[in-house]
Amino acid sequence: MIIIGGGAGAFASAIKANELKAKTLLINKGLPLGGTCVNVGCVPSKTLLWAGEVMHQAKHHGIPGIDIEVKNFDFSKVVQHELDLVAKLRAEKYEKVLNGLENITHIEGQATFVSPNEIEVAGQEYNARKFIIAAGSTATVPSIENIQEVGFLTHIEALKLKQQPKELIVVGAGPLGLEFAQMFARFGTKVTILQRNVSIFPPAESELTNRLAEILTKEGITIKTDVQVKSVRKEGNKKILTYTVNDEQEEVSVDEILLATGKTPNTQGLGLDKIGVDINEKQAIKVNPQFQTSQSHIYAVGDVINLPIRQEPTAGREGTLVAENALSNTQNSIDYNTVPWTIFTDPQLAGVGLTEEQEMKQLGRCLCRTVSFTDVPKAIIIGRTEGLIKMVIHPVTKQILGVHILAPNAGELITGAMMLIRNKNTIDDVVNSLPMFPTLSEAIKIAALSFTKDISKLSCCV
Ligand SMILES: Cc1cc2nc3c(=O)[nH]c(=O)nc-3n(C[C@H](O)[C@H](O)[C@H](O)COP(=O)(O)OP(=O)(O)OC[C@H]3O[C@@H](n4cnc5c(N)ncnc54)[C@H](O)[C@@H]3O)c2cc1C
Repeated sequence: MIIIGGGAGAFASAIKANELKAKTLLINKGLPLGGTCVNVGCVPSKTLLWAGEVMHQAKHHGIPGIDIEVKNFDFSKVVQHELDLVAKLRAEKYEKVLNGLENITHIEGQATFVSPNEIEVAGQEYNARKFIIAAGSTATVPSIENIQEVGFLTHIEALKLKQQPKELIVVGAGPLGLEFAQMFARFGTKVTILQRNVSIFPPAESELTNRLAEILTKEGITIKTDVQVKSVRKEGNKKILTYTVNDEQEEVSVDEILLATGKTPNTQGLGLDKIGVDINEKQAIKVNPQFQTSQSHIYAVGDVINLPIRQEPTAGREGTLVAENALSNTQNSIDYNTVPWTIFTDPQLAGVGLTEEQEMKQLGRCLCRTVSFTDVPKAIIIGRTEGLIKMVIHPVTKQILGVHILAPNAGELITGAMMLIRNKNTIDDVVNSLPMFPTLSEAIKIAALSFTKDISKLSCCV
């Protein structure tokens, strides 16, 4: 087998292929081993977000009688700590792991198909019976006049800056844009988000995204929605961005521009057109539920494919399942309705399953409740009542179909909701369960109770 890529998807495939004793070649080029998540994605961004959160909590814990002063903030030291952590995790979790896989050979180089069973790497050709493409994606550069000439940051450069920008424009308000906006704002950078849509992160529940936008605005981030970014020019050290809002033209002058307008699958240069592997209009490889491309012996996983929810756990799981499909003729697939996602702002925004809008589309009616964290005792105790939880259930069976949470550590809380949806639990199952008191995860039970009771009239331990 040949695996193209060296990130989460490729590693999971390699580990499974090794287990199945398949003679396998792993070819990676571009990012170092480990790919996006460990090098320029999840790990470094969450390390910097945590640094910002610690500083923010020190100043805004809200407990009378405790006065914490942040005496010093050294941006370059915080970034160096992040880069050291990345190097450590890359060595331990990827380089060392790969060295221990006795059936896997690794080479560095750009892989290009020359025929359906043959690829070329640096002038050398390699054959295989099965292929897994796990080539990931690269930051999309939108068409803004002069953007290449003036220059910009993507997540890759923004995670290794030597100097903190004083003023930053973030173009895009998806998970990446929102996380970087808050990270830099909490470090003291003046941040403006320019978002093309009418709200931040439109796929999520609008009540929750509206609340998150309010929270970020209160922290000092300017959010402009319904914006069309037109052009950029340089004046001295400043970058001047021209955009339209409600057909009015405006300008903003900043030190840096961070592009967070999505990712484009790395399909160019793979030679897919020569071998009949189809891609869609967004350059993503089209796969069936078993991750098979239009050539049945060539599979694809992770950020490079067209399935919903592209993140580290999905790339990894797909990688494991696909290696088995390719080598053992299994028919493994994933139910993406039960896969949670998280935006790691503070509070975090996490979701699993259907939103109200999706239930309306699927069933023609909807049964849902939104509960404020002002009704969750633990949130009152820690002074974090700003969040909301929304639960969507089946109008007849009362089965839980979707849970969306805006709260501190919502990414942890959503795991409980994920199990409820996977196990097809109803609100009665949750109401009859006994979550620990006082915890934020009690919010899930309170949301379930809210379908049948006025929760404002319940005592603490309901
Ligand atoms: C800033 C940021 C933060 C993120 N945070 C999170 C998070 O908190 N949680 C989460 O779950 N997900 C997060 N993600 C998403 C997650 O990182 C990706 O979904 C995941 O890493 C994709 O894995 P992959 O294996 O598909 O691709 P990658 O990890 O990108 O690996 C692809 C590899 O293939 C190489 N390659 C490409 N073309 C070729 C070729 N022709 N020949 C050889 N090699 C090639 C690339 O250089 C790369 O090394 C984040 C992403 C970003 C950008």
